[in-house]
Amino acid sequence: MIEIALTKVEKVGSLPIDNELGFGRIFTDHMFVMNYLTGKGWHSPRIIPYADFPASPSMIALHYGQAIFEGMKAFRSDDDRLRVFRPYEYLNRFNRSARFLNIPQMDVEQIHTALFKLLALEKDWIPGKLGTSLYIRPFVVADESQLGVKVADSYKLFIILSPVGAYYKTGFNPISIKVEDKYVRATKGGLGEAKTPANYAMSLAAQQEAYAEGFGQVLWLDAVHRKYIEEVGTMNILFKINGEIITPALNGSILGGITRKTVLELCRSWGIKVSERQISIEEVFEAHAKGELEEVFGSGTAAVISPVGELSWKGQKIVISNNQTGEFAHKLFNYVTGVQSGKIADQFNWMEEIKS
Ligand SMILES: *Cc1c(COP(=O)(O)O)cnc(C)c1O
Repeated sequence: MIEIALTKVEKVGSLPIDNELGFGRIFTDHMFVMNYLTGKGWHSPRIIPYADFPASPSMIALHYGQAIFEGMKAFRSDDDRLRVFRPYEYLNRFNRSARFLNIPQMDVEQIHTALFKLLALEKDWIPGKLGTSLYIRPFVVADESQLGVKVADSYKLFIILSPVGAYYKTGFNPISIKVEDKYVRATKGGLGEAKTPANYAMSLAAQQEAYAEGFGQVLWLDAVHRKYIEEVGTMNILFKINGEIITPALNGSILGGITRKTVLELCRSWGIKVSERQISIEEVFEAHAKGELEEVFGSGTAAVISPVGELSWKGQKIVISNNQTGEFAHKLFNYVTGVQSGKIADQFNWMEEIKS
């Protein structure tokens, strides 16, 4: 058991009403911080008031991007149980991302203890209305101050918490997608498997161009052949073709989503055929031409399931399930959010209780 120092704020804030929540703009009273120094290891774990922190203008993370993050959620059920969705899955991925960025490994048990201690302290910030949650953002930045390009000797790990509103306020609207043929997100041997700011920086120009052309998101193709499907925006993508769920295999350039994993586990438990394999954009367009493309949807922690209504590729556009949310996407969304909100029994042990 680790000792986590605690400095409380003098005056606590309060949870705004549900429709003022939005995403990631409001933060709770406290945050967790821990330092790393070569030779000393991770040390000084502490919970302190949420506040700006002193940072050097020459800090390595700002110049060379040595940083990683995670994103998971805690929920309040109708009967006031406070639970986190699959925390170990996210914390283990945090450590896997660290390897790609040469960030020192963390003790997952220790971070887990710290997270649950912070959550217990901030429990009043967990909203309860359906669709709302407390978003949990752990991250590590290299905070050594010097401009030489190198692996840093000093890091800070933070966990900050933000109550967030429902992702779908006006119902479950399918998005229109541009199949990206100019930019690429990641390539094998790169950082595509890691949750790191560089992948997000990489996606901004493509995203802006797609918005300007009236699309909601981009679909990324592989960097080498520009033909195999990888992800949609910052979500994983799944296709329902002829009753089968097909999603790109985790090939080294795709982020292994926890929601993707959850959806695949669910499909298998329901006896639905699941294939994790290479799938080309031509195959998707051909399946559509044959009338076999039933549904397309993204998966990610923020939206859970995000239905795709249209796909445009090199001037050709296909409309999927009449630009309506498919029945299967709906079923998945209702099941996962049902377990998260406590309306459906947690058969798979996805939820972990916050004990105060
Ligand atoms: C976080 C993320 C996802 C989705 O992962 P979840 O664990 O389901 O939230 C997919 N793609 C990218 C690039 C991501 O950063």
